[in-house]
Amino acid sequence: MTFFRSLRYRHDHENVVLILTIFLVLAMIVLTSSVTFCLSGVFIIGMFILSAVMIRSHHQTLMRQTVTVDPHRTPQLAELVAECSQKLQPGPVEVFLANKARMNAYTFGIGDPKVLVLFSPLLKVMMPDELKFIIGHEMGHVALGHTWLNTIVGGLAGIPAPLGMSVVLYSAFRWWNRMCEFSADRAGLLACGDIRYAVSSLVKLAAPEIRSQQDFDAALAMIDAQDDRVANQLAEVFQSHPMLIRRINNLRDYARTEEYQWLQAGVNRNVGMVYEQLAQKPAGVNEVAASDRPVTSQSQRTPEERWPWLKR
Ligand SMILES: [Zn+2]
Repeated sequence: MTFFRSLRYRHDHENVVLILTIFLVLAMIVLTSSVTFCLSGVFIIGMFILSAVMIRSHHQTLMRQTVTVDPHRTPQLAELVAECSQKLQPGPVEVFLANKARMNAYTFGIGDPKVLVLFSPLLKVMMPDELKFIIGHEMGHVALGHTWLNTIVGGLAGIPAPLGMSVVLYSAFRWWNRMCEFSADRAGLLACGDIRYAVSSLVKLAAPEIRSQQDFDAALAMIDAQDDRVANQLAEVFQSHPMLIRRINNLRDYARTEEYQWLQAGVNRNVGMVYEQLAQKPAGVNEVAASDRPVTSQSQRTPEERWPWLKR
């Protein structure tokens, strides 16, 4: 049985900025002397090997300090992961749950399987559909090749160069990083299938303590004011993530496009098949483990009761 798989959700500017970054690196190498040319080659290979070694050791640390997300240890979370994976078809991904104090999620890897790490506070703060946005966002990075590209392009951008050129290369690399975030947000939207959950997930990253419509509006107003300040706009040039308000607006615009509707229908068809497969799953696999409840004491109430803004 063939699954629907399309990478058309990639942001239009992502590849343009990637090509520009690589072009800048090559131009820098050509412009400087032939000695630098040889050194640059050695540097790039060295950086790549160093990254590969660091990734390997980070993976080993994760294996010791985290819980692997699987149907036996974390059945509810494993089901969300399976659904996102079935929708987005990112290829082999190993998912770990890290017991940390802050909210975060990231992905890395050069070869297969890629690694996806979720920090435990996400499970307390996010509803299952919001978690799907987070998981889908990270799987989008995997599907679009950002994990291995990041290692290579990051190495290229870090190439020794005169200071001015280093700043230009670094900001080009960060620009590409930010375009990748827009693309990954679209994958997150496709995974959760509802712009309201995607937006509330992004808002909660900045304001995890939201308990009412008032809290939500206040948080959104705070986020909305981010791009009013020139200092924030300047700082963004060196940051890997766009301002939250840009991510929210970009995603809202994308959710209105025909292309999104077409992709959403495609990925939804993939999950239709999952449900058939889940029906054949052995008994007991769906039982809930206490450690794996994405929503704590509020789980009896419907999302609309707990999060009034979702009625919109
Ligand atoms: Zn990301």
